[in-house]
Parts: sequence; structure tokens; C-alpha cells
Amino acid sequence: MARFDNRIGLITGSASGIGKEIAIRFAAEGGTPIIADLNLDAAKATAEEIKASGADAFAVAMNVTDEAQVEKAVNEVIAKYGKIDVLVSNAGIQTVHPLVDFPFEDWKKLLSIHLDGAFLTTRACLKHMYAANYGRVIYMGSVHSKEASKLKAPYVTAKHGLIGLSKVLAKEGAEYNVTSNVVCPGFVRTPLVDKQIPEQAKELGITEDEVIKNIMLKDTVDGQFTTTDDVTDAVLFFAGAESNVMTGQSLVVSHGWFMQ
Ligand code: NAD
Repeated sequence: MARFDNRIGLITGSASGIGKEIAIRFAAEGGTPIIADLNLDAAKATAEEIKASGADAFAVAMNVTDEAQVEKAVNEVIAKYGKIDVLVSNAGIQTVHPLVDFPFEDWKKLLSIHLDGAFLTTRACLKHMYAANYGRVIYMGSVHSKEASKLKAPYVTAKHGLIGLSKVLAKEGAEYNVTSNVVCPGFVRTPLVDKQIPEQAKELGITEDEVIKNIMLKDTVDGQFTTTDDVTDAVLFFAGAESNVMTGQSLVVSHGWFMQ
């Protein structure tokens, strides 16, 4: 029997990057990933890619900041599969500006995707997890859940906030056998990071190579990027946990950039 046989896992932002890798590997180990993304065409393409490998997958349109759309998508999943065992709240964006002139609209948009999105998807899935007396919730944090960097005020704020949300869920969910944990990656080469490199180079007046070496990977022990596979290992570790022994925790996967 595979680790995720008969498990339904809703993964937000899974049409790209880290979320897509999580969906592919959850399916490879017997689970059915729900590809929930703002970009429905890309979500459908990911679901088709997974189905072509012989596994099941289902794409739903979901803007995680839209309460009605989150509820509708979760109801669609329940109508089709009857339960949601695993939630990976992963959808996210990045916007960089110095704090002194950070546009308020950009601040609100980022907090809304990371924090409102985590709250709304958690709330929508939780009632079904409580009814089933089982759930595994994983939030995609970051080293920026623990550390700060210049130019990333709302991102650092939101990623720290997810740890608070996760700890509350760990306490409230315990009696229903729902665990909650945060995975905190270092830099991973995904579209989100590829977009930041030229932006940071411009803001700081340095080359793109310097952004990678002197900023992104400066504090790692070996100058290496974290990979989508590394992050997926950690997410699936929490998703497949047999007991409640690990809940309210955060696990940093960052080549030693941050040490607990
Ligand atoms: P990515 O840009 O490759 O993928 C993000 C996905 O989220 C996209 O498919 C996008 O369509 C989707 N999305 C964006 N806004 C959405 C919304 N409102 N509703 C639903 N879906 C939405 O990014 P990634 O690098 O894979 O990042 C995934 C998560 O990992 C984010 O939470 C990010 O903060 C976190 N993270 C990334 C890194 C990194 O270095 N790449 C490091 C630490 C944490």
C-alpha cells in the first residue's frame, strides 16, 4: 500500500513551482491531488499531466482571497470525493520594495494572498476534516517565517503570521485528529524567485549574479539553492504523519541559511 492511497489532498497554487511538485509526488504515492489555482488553464494542464502518469487529479479554479470561490471549490471537491484529508496552503506571491515607499495596494495584496488565503482555505476544509476526524494541514512558510530581509516587509510579516495561525490550528484541531505544521524553505528556483532576481538587482543597483551569491545564498552553508523536491519531502513527511506527535511545528529546509 502506498503512503497516500485513498487520500485527497487540496494544494493551493499547485499549477506551478513548489505546489506542482507536491501535487505530482502526492499522486505518485497514491493520493489524489486537487490542483487549486488562480490560473485554471495551468491547473488543468497539471491535472492532465498527472493523469497521464496513471494517477488521479482534479483541477479547480480558486482565488484563495475570494471567500465565495474558496467555498465553491471546496464544495466541488466534497461533491466529487466526499472528503479532504490533506490541505497544503501554498499559493503565494512576492513583491519587493523598500519599506519607506512600499505601495499600500501591494502590501494589502500580498497579505491577502498569504494570510487571508491560508485562513479561508483552512476554514473551508476544516469542517470536513472535523467531520471525518482526520486532517493534515501544512502551510508553506519560508525562512522568512523566522528571519527578515530588506525589501520584503509584507512577505516577512505574512510568513511569520502563518506560524501563529498554524499553532492555533494545532491546538483547536487536536481533538479532531487534525495536525498543523509549517514548512519553511530557503530560496528555490521557481518562477516566483526568477522574477525577483532582476527586480532586486535593479532596486539594489547590483548584478543578477550578485543577487544570487551575495543575497539569496549568502548565508547558506554551501551556496546551494533548495529544490522543489527538498521542500516536497518535508511537506509529505507532515502529510503522511501517522500520529499527532508532530503538530504546531515548523521545519526549515534551507541549506543551513537559518538554524533553529
Ligand atoms: P510560483 O510563482 O511558481 O507558484 C505560485 C502559484 O500560486 C502559481 O501557480 C500562481 O498562479 C498561484 N497563485 C498566486 N496567487 C494566487 C491566488 N490568489 N489564488 C490561488 N493561486 C494563486 O511560486 P513558488 O515559488 O512555487 O511559491 C509557492 C509558495 O512557496 C509560496 O507561498 C512562496 O511564498 C513559498 N516559498 C517559495 C520560495 C522560493 O524560493 N521559491 C521560498 C520559500 C517559500
